[in-house]
Amino acid sequence: MALKRWIAGSLMLACILCGCGTQQVETGQADSAGSGDPQAVQDTGSAALDDTDGDAAVDDELVDPPLGEDAVSEDVAQLPLSGLVICLDPGHGITSASRQEAVSPLSSETKAAYVSGAVGNSQTEEALNLAVAEMTRGELEALGAQVVMTRQTNEATVSNIERAQIANAAGADLCIRIHADGSEDSSVYGMSMQVPAGSLLGTPSIEAPSAQAAEMILQAVTEATGARNRGLAQRSDLTGFNWSEVPCILLEMGFLSNAEEDARLAQTEYRQQIAAGIAEGVCRWVRAR
Ligand SMILES: [Zn+2]
Repeated sequence: MALKRWIAGSLMLACILCGCGTQQVETGQADSAGSGDPQAVQDTGSAALDDTDGDAAVDDELVDPPLGEDAVSEDVAQLPLSGLVICLDPGHGITSASRQEAVSPLSSETKAAYVSGAVGNSQTEEALNLAVAEMTRGELEALGAQVVMTRQTNEATVSNIERAQIANAAGADLCIRIHADGSEDSSVYGMSMQVPAGSLLGTPSIEAPSAQAAEMILQAVTEATGARNRGLAQRSDLTGFNWSEVPCILLEMGFLSNAEEDARLAQTEYRQQIAAGIAEGVCRWVRAR
């Protein structure tokens, strides 16, 4: 029994040394789209086997050599979002560029490619969106997801078509666009989720899975934050939806035009609650779909 325990210990050590846990998944996912994960699993498996092969004393007790490999695969698979690719799209960006782009692959109608965001007393929207997206990225990667970002700086010139194309190219399971609202009526507050709909969708099949993800994630985020749930809004006029070939949703985190909500959205703790709520909602969606 002691020897068996030692074997288990040495397998676990090999596992830790080649970092097959969350850390490895995070590292693999941070820098490469698509190729990091499978390689990490493969490397880990062979390293664990090499370790046991090298020790003659182990051979007698090594009941089932592939066990080590299986156990490692299960460790990785146990992360709830393992194998999932999420695109996070922090809305807007600071740019002096200005041009028009087609609102849909099915239409010659155009809209501005770059639009500046809402402005509150405490923050500007593009900075808030990126800060929450970075926190959300951390939450999702810790759960095993691979995350692709459409921008990582506030100075950024990324059009709405380009944002959709980044998610498309990554083969994302879901694209989450992160925004905050503004209104001329400063009394309006609360969170909502916009979802793709209508005849301008280049890929109509994204409509149903997007709505399902939107409902679950909005529910989870409002539970996590205590924010008012304003529900889902169908949008047929958003370029970023119409060009998307993958399920795509747009979270409006609250109104920067409402003084109280603006102040809340400026707090690190509240932003972290939003990120955790998004991750929880993604987990619920993955279990349900
Ligand atoms: Zn916005």
